[in-house]
Amino acid sequence: NNMIKITDLEKTYRTEEVETVALNKLSLEVGEGEFVAIMGPSGCGKTTLMNILGLLDDPDNGSFVFNGIEVARFNERKRAQLRKHNIGFVFQSFNLIDELTVFENVELPLIYTGVKAGERKSKVEEVLDRMQIMHRRNHFPQQLSGGQQQRVAIARAVVNNPKLILADEPTGNLDSSNGNEVMQLLTDLNTAGTTIIMVTHSEHDARYSHRTVRMLDGQTVLEDILI
Ligand code: ADP
Ligand code: ADP
Repeated sequence: NNMIKITDLEKTYRTEEVETVALNKLSLEVGEGEFVAIMGPSGCGKTTLMNILGLLDDPDNGSFVFNGIEVARFNERKRAQLRKHNIGFVFQSFNLIDELTVFENVELPLIYTGVKAGERKSKVEEVLDRMQIMHRRNHFPQQLSGGQQQRVAIARAVVNNPKLILADEPTGNLDSSNGNEVMQLLTDLNTAGTTIIMVTHSEHDARYSHRTVRMLDGQTVLEDILI
């Protein structure tokens, strides 16, 4: 079963002086429950693709079918609606809110989707426990190590039980031991049924995935099947 079917996706950035083709008729299919790594040189369009996959941005042309729905021409309001219930994001730089505690950071997606306070508390605690960061629930992000911050970010990404996690260089700011821990957490989530698409520069991290999609100049060029 395909969760994602992208066909001939095109995206061009236009400024007054230049046009940059970021995605050039890119096609990609991702099945439900897959763990896919996306690799490729700087500027090949990885971030652009992730922004479209995450319903943060829209393509100029082409088709993007997500869970059986054509979303390529959804407006921002409809994209946001679909996004907040279906997609969790993990970033290289964690993107936690410094003014909020660990608990409050993880609680935010539940507030956005209208979950009541009592249910929020139990859901946040369950996921903090699972990410082994419960003892830090009342700390602020800056009081945590990088590995701990990324565990909080993953807790925030999964607290709504999204079907899809998009991870952009999730170990980019971590040492290898914290990096491996984060990759193991993502692997566990995938084993439990969550589809994962991860951009990485690390061949080591890519080996945690089922297959690697290689990009060049806004297209996919090669796939190596690992499992
Ligand atoms: P990657 O993530 O693989 O480095 P990007 O998707 O960020 O690639 O960028 C693809 C191309 O689009 C690059 O040439 C980049 O310079 C260009 N680009 C990305 N974002 C913008 C933007 N907002 N405005 C203009 N050009 C952009
Ligand atoms: P880790 O144990 O994850 O490798 P570090 O070696 O960076 O983390 O830090 C050791 C311990 O000190 C960690 O538990 C971390 O949360 C804590 N710590 C690091 N920086 C701060 C800080 N600025 N304020 C409070 N605690 C901190």
